[in-house]
Amino acid sequence: MKSLLVVFVVLLLPTGAEAQSPANVNQAVNSITPDDVYRRIAIIADDSMMGRDTPSPGLEMTAQYIAAEFQRLGLEPGGDAGGYLQRYPLTEIHATLQVTVDGGADLVTGQSVVQVGGGAAPHGVTGPTVLVSGAGDLGGRAPIAGAMVLLAAQYDPSRRGLTEESQQLLNRIRDRGPAAVFLLADYPDRIWRFFTQLQRPTQVVRGQATASPEGPPVLALSPAAALELLGTTPAPAGELTVQTIETLRLTVTATRDVSETSAPNVVGILEGSDPVLKNEYLVYSAHMDHVGCRSGVEGDSIWNGADDDASGTIGVVELAEAFAMLEPRPKRSMIFLAVSGEEKGLWGSGYYADNPSVPIEQLIANVNADMIGRNWRDTIVVIGKEHSDLGATMNRVNRRHPELGMTAIDDIWPNERFYYRSDHYNFARKGVPVLFFFNGVHEDYHRPSDEVSRIDAEKTSRIVKLMFYLGLEVANAPQRPKWDPESYDRIVRRVTP
Ligand SMILES: [Zn+2]
Repeated sequence: MKSLLVVFVVLLLPTGAEAQSPANVNQAVNSITPDDVYRRIAIIADDSMMGRDTPSPGLEMTAQYIAAEFQRLGLEPGGDAGGYLQRYPLTEIHATLQVTVDGGADLVTGQSVVQVGGGAAPHGVTGPTVLVSGAGDLGGRAPIAGAMVLLAAQYDPSRRGLTEESQQLLNRIRDRGPAAVFLLADYPDRIWRFFTQLQRPTQVVRGQATASPEGPPVLALSPAAALELLGTTPAPAGELTVQTIETLRLTVTATRDVSETSAPNVVGILEGSDPVLKNEYLVYSAHMDHVGCRSGVEGDSIWNGADDDASGTIGVVELAEAFAMLEPRPKRSMIFLAVSGEEKGLWGSGYYADNPSVPIEQLIANVNADMIGRNWRDTIVVIGKEHSDLGATMNRVNRRHPELGMTAIDDIWPNERFYYRSDHYNFARKGVPVLFFFNGVHEDYHRPSDEVSRIDAEKTSRIVKLMFYLGLEVANAPQRPKWDPESYDRIVRRVTP
């Protein structure tokens, strides 16, 4: 009897003495208000932030705002060199292209012609026009050196590029020093649209600048432009022919300037209260970037991204504020992370997952929010429940809080593969169990009309409260979350059963 009592006391004391009081938890959760949510979304989705493109001055201002909030709330900095910002490298490419036709109109860059490879020709190159069509050996005397070569090539959709034969022929032509090569192929519309994106005057790509490509410029001609220049569509198949076209003279001028730049993530850390468990971290994340300024709709060219994803970003700030009010702090530590470059391809979260504030094994869960300000008032889709016991924890916490009037339902769009399409995936692939809060798309998704005036901040505040209770449960639990073994094999180890 006595020994049992001792066990009882020992089991109860640590949790009893260290847990947050219900009054304290209530005070913290009540700091998450619709007014706060609306006011803060209005700040970062304001027109002055110019749509928070990556990289852009508006994105930098947004990052500064979040960093200042984290500092005010007493979070520790988790970014570079003792600051809240973590910067990742980007390369900016400024490219121009001009193709003139003797006696005719210039080809329209980005519409009729795009550069798809090769180096620059800043002073302009020209030469006799030679049309190569068919497949086979070029032969020693083909007049390729110094020529403007038009190559009738074959496009293979399954390779997303030229066929093997066409590619080999292109390589052999390039080896002989032409002035430039024009590819004439029957590009599908979808591929041609992709090519025209490549010819934007400024492009930003991930990573550090590498050496610029060299060799003669390789350009792609749209099927329509090829037909207009030649009056016919040359056959890419059949016996190889090399034909000089005296009546056509083209001049190509192409420039390419490369500069290094970077973009920010914002990282704030709230240290846990348990001497051991504080070495484990729950990460709340959202992306602060959006797509910037684009073609206007009814006079509005600023794509504000109020739902996508100012809503989730402000959710993370509100969570930081609420958790910072707890005394004692949750047992485990928490990382509050606002990433950028999501819209470009999950850049910021990818960089953070490769360069986390603490070793990745110490990240025990990622709860990501991307679009939590629209659609149904009583429902939020929580994606990824089936992949770890975070799903069961989520459902248990949800049942305990009917007063929120918010039901966390399972993924109802599995065919859309949303699990792979926002920042949490970069944590999942590294072995960190994740949940993804997402209200689904709507008519203003990726439109200039995704504005704060259309945000349901009352609903958002209830979702953020649910995220708070989930995080508190996970941060105080005796065990860290566990993967479903089959999901782990598929998503992390990438073995197919
Ligand atoms: Zn988004």
